[in-house]
Amino acid sequence: MGRQTPHPPSHHPARREGLEAGHQADPYRLNRKFEEPSACPDCLASYHKGHWSWDQPATGAQQHRCPACARIRDRVPAGELILSGEFLAGHYEQILALIEHTDAHIRAEHPLERLMAIQPDESHSQALVTFTGTHGTHGVAKALHQAFGGELEAPYLEGSTPLRVHWRR
Ligand SMILES: [Zn+2]
Repeated sequence: MGRQTPHPPSHHPARREGLEAGHQADPYRLNRKFEEPSACPDCLASYHKGHWSWDQPATGAQQHRCPACARIRDRVPAGELILSGEFLAGHYEQILALIEHTDAHIRAEHPLERLMAIQPDESHSQALVTFTGTHGTHGVAKALHQAFGGELEAPYLEGSTPLRVHWRR
């Protein structure tokens, strides 16, 4: 994780690619087009045929930061999972392990869906878990709910950024 300094989200549009003037620019948009082939200098994901993957970058690939690394760098999550409850405090390590395990699975298949940070309070009875994508947010929330029960509140809201999901137990 590592990037846990609380910081208000900064909305820098992508500086280097100032090509999006004229329509609403969302530098993190998942279907955003990049030159092909491209590779992300931060995570080494590669962009080919309109998709990011963990394939080896092609030789001569252009360097473009992927939308997930752009969110991590700017600290702008696409999804927030808020954990709370006594069970959380009593089983924190176990819950943390499941979150990381589930994230590893999801990001292996979906390079733009990543855990950003886990920020517990001092007593571990509440934690904020942030993600670069809504799919990952829902995926981790569902895994917790399936493994440990509890109460899951996971709205699918169109156009709400960031998505907010609550799990309590
Ligand atoms: Zn990247």
